[in-house]
Amino acid sequence: MTNQKKFDYDAIIIGSGIGGLITGAYLAEQGVKVLICEHHKQPGGNFTSFKRKGYTFDGGIQGCEDGGVFFHLFRRFGLLDRLEFKKSHFAIASPDFYLRVDSVADVGTFYRKLKNIYPHESDGIEQITRDAQACCDFMFSFQKMPNAMYTPWKEALAGFPGWYREHSAAVKYVPEFFQKLTIIMEDYFKQHVSDPDLYRFLCQMSYSGSPASFGLLFLTFLMDYYHPMGGVQVIPDALADYITEHGGEMKYRTLVEEIIMEGDKAQGIRTEAGDIYRAPFIISNGDARRTYLKMLPQDVVPESYKQELRQSTVSESFFTLFLGVDIPPEEIPTRGCSHLLFFPDYRGVDSEAYKSSDDPDVYARAPIDINVNSVHDPSLAPEGKSTVVIQTGAFAEFADNWGTKDGKRTKKYKALKEKVADRLIATAENVIHGLSEKIEVKVSGTPYTFERYTLNSGGASAGWTFHPQKAMNSGLKFLTGFNPPVKNLFQVGHWAMSPGGAPSGAITGRIVSEIVKRRLEWGF
Ligand SMILES: Cc1cc2nc3c(=O)[nH]c(=O)nc-3n(C[C@H](O)[C@H](O)[C@H](O)COP(=O)(O)OP(=O)(O)OC[C@H]3O[C@@H](n4cnc5c(N)ncnc54)[C@H](O)[C@@H]3O)c2cc1C
Repeated sequence: MTNQKKFDYDAIIIGSGIGGLITGAYLAEQGVKVLICEHHKQPGGNFTSFKRKGYTFDGGIQGCEDGGVFFHLFRRFGLLDRLEFKKSHFAIASPDFYLRVDSVADVGTFYRKLKNIYPHESDGIEQITRDAQACCDFMFSFQKMPNAMYTPWKEALAGFPGWYREHSAAVKYVPEFFQKLTIIMEDYFKQHVSDPDLYRFLCQMSYSGSPASFGLLFLTFLMDYYHPMGGVQVIPDALADYITEHGGEMKYRTLVEEIIMEGDKAQGIRTEAGDIYRAPFIISNGDARRTYLKMLPQDVVPESYKQELRQSTVSESFFTLFLGVDIPPEEIPTRGCSHLLFFPDYRGVDSEAYKSSDDPDVYARAPIDINVNSVHDPSLAPEGKSTVVIQTGAFAEFADNWGTKDGKRTKKYKALKEKVADRLIATAENVIHGLSEKIEVKVSGTPYTFERYTLNSGGASAGWTFHPQKAMNSGLKFLTGFNPPVKNLFQVGHWAMSPGGAPSGAITGRIVSEIVKRRLEWGF
C-alpha cells in the first residue's frame, strides 16, 4: 500500500504490547505494510512468560480477561484454532473462609461473609451487595451486546433487537452505572460504611481512586479469565506470527529513541542502533511520558499537553514472586482453582501505606494473588511439580524507590526484595502449608523490574491511574487519548485510555488501526 517512494512502511508501531499487536494484526491483514519495533527480545509487553530451570512463569498478567473483547479478536486472528484456552477459575479466601467465584450469587455470598464479621455494618453492606450484583448483571449483559467494533455493523444492528429483548434491564441500568463511574470508589464506600477496618478492606478491591463501579465489579472481573495452554506468551507469539504471515515485520531488541518529524508531521523513527525507518503514520504503544517528553522534539508538543503528562499519576505496579515448587499440581490446595486471592486479615491495608512506608512489614498484611496455572496446565512445570506466582499491589515510591540510586539496583534494593518476598511466602503458607520447604526456583520482581522490561514509568501496570481526576485520557477524554496533539502520530495501549488494562489496551488498537487504514486509503 506504500504510495510514496520516500516511505519504507505504511505504518510503524513502537512497541509490541497487546495494543501494538492488535493494531499491527488489523493493519497487516488489510494489506498495510507495517513494521513493529520492540525493545525486548520477544513480543507481548505485560503479556509475557519466561522460563527458569524447566518452569514456565507468566511474568505479568496471569491469564486473559476477556472483557467481551479478546475472544472476538482471537477468533478474528485465528488464535482459537492455534491455541487452546482453559477457563481460569478464581477463589477468594481468608484464614477462615474459602469461596470459589463463579456467578453473581457468589458475589452475594462474599458480602454475607463480611456481614458476619462486621454485623454493625449490615445495612451498608447490603446496599453494596445490591449495587455489586446489579453491576455484575449489567456487565454480563453488556458484554453480550452485538458490537460493530468486531462484527460487520449490519450484523450488529440486526442482532440488537434480540439482545435488547433479553437484556432490557441492562439498558435501564446504564444511567446508574455511569453515575457510579463518576464517583470515586473510596467515596462510595465511605457513604455506606463507617468502620475504618471494613472501609480499608473494601478499598483494596481495585486500584486506588478507581470509579466506584470498578470497585463493585471486582468479583465480576474474576469470573472472566482464560488461560492459554503453554503460558500467556503464546498469545503475543501467535499475534506476531499472524502479522508476519500477512506481510508485516517484527524487529526485536530494537529500542526506538526518536520519532522523526517532517514539518509538523511524525514521519519516521530512529532506533538506538541509529537505523532510520520512515512511514506516513507512527503509532506509539509505549509509555506516554517517554513518547511525548523524550522521543519527540519538544517544540512540537504543546506546553499544556506536557504539563498534563507530568501532572497525571500513573497506575499502581506489582511485586511478584515466581516460585518453582516441588509439589504436585493435584496437591496444591486451591481446590482446582488456578487463582486464589488471599486476604490475611479483615483490616486491610491502605494503599498510601505501601507508597509512603519503607517498612517491608506492610507487606505482611497485604492481600496476595496466588496464581497456580500449572494446576490446569502441568506442562508449565517439570513432572510432578508446580509453578506458584504470588502477586501483590506495589508502588515504585515504596522505601525511597525501593532503595534504587539513579535508577541502579543497590544492596538495599536487593535486601528489600528479599524481605518483601519472605513476607509474601509467609502469607502464602496459610494456604500452601510448608511452601518455603518446597521451593526450587525463586525469582522476584519489583515495580522497577516491570519498568525495565516494559519501559512503563514506575512499572505502571495499567497506564494512568484509575482515578478519573488524576489521569489523562479518562472520562470522555478516552475519545481523544489515542490521538495526541502531534499530526500523524497515534497512541495505542493502556496509556491511551483510562481506566487502562488489557481489554482497553486492545480496543484502542482496534480503533487506531481503522483510522490509519482509512487515512492511508484517502491519501493521508
Ligand atoms: C502483574 C500484572 C498483572 C496484570 N493483570 C491484569 C489483569 O488481570 N487484567 C487486565 O485487564 N490487565 C492486567 N494488567 C495490565 C495489562 O497487562 C496491561 O494494561 C496491558 O497488557 C498493556 O498493554 P499495552 O498494549 O499498553 O502494552 P505494554 O504491555 O505496556 O507493552 C508495551 C511494549 O512496548 C515496548 N516499548 C515501549 N517503548 C518502546 C520503545 N521506545 N521502543 C521499542 N519498544 C518499546 C515495551 O518493551 C513493551 O513490550 C496487569 C499488569 C501487570 C503488570
